[in-house]
Amino acid sequence: MTMVTADDLIDGLRGSGYRITEARRQICLLLAGEPEGHLSAADVLDGVSGVDQSTVYRTLEALERAGLVEHIHMGHGAGAYHLAPAGGDHHHLVCEACGTVVDVPLSRVRAAVDDVARSHGFVVDTAHFALVGRCTSCAAPGTTSQ
Ligand SMILES: [Zn+2]
Ligand SMILES: [Zn+2]
Ligand SMILES: [Zn+2]
Repeated sequence: MTMVTADDLIDGLRGSGYRITEARRQICLLLAGEPEGHLSAADVLDGVSGVDQSTVYRTLEALERAGLVEHIHMGHGAGAYHLAPAGGDHHHLVCEACGTVVDVPLSRVRAAVDDVARSHGFVVDTAHFALVGRCTSCAAPGTTSQ
């Protein structure tokens, strides 16, 4: 997997016609510094200083349009942002009780989903929504639902 650097993100924004402000630079640095991270817009806002919320949202949108970042849904809450190559190869199991996120190979989930969707000619964005449930420590013995 190629590592996406803050410079890649900054270049991508610049290439899409965005002026590189200090705020945008900070957001790019934060995202590139958490390659395994699942950051909500609120996490990004917390991680930068002197950047207002609308700038965070607009910058994340711009990065997403440039194909450098993508969002996924980990549960009921706000979307989480990923560097695009990292999010492209795994799926998420999210524990509703404790919030633990387990990354699983996307290929294994995709095979099952494609099997269901194929007869409808449907191309599924498999990783967009996490599979939500209980992790092993939260699922009490004997109560694991099937
Ligand atoms: Zn979405
Ligand atoms: Zn992930
Ligand atoms: Zn749990």
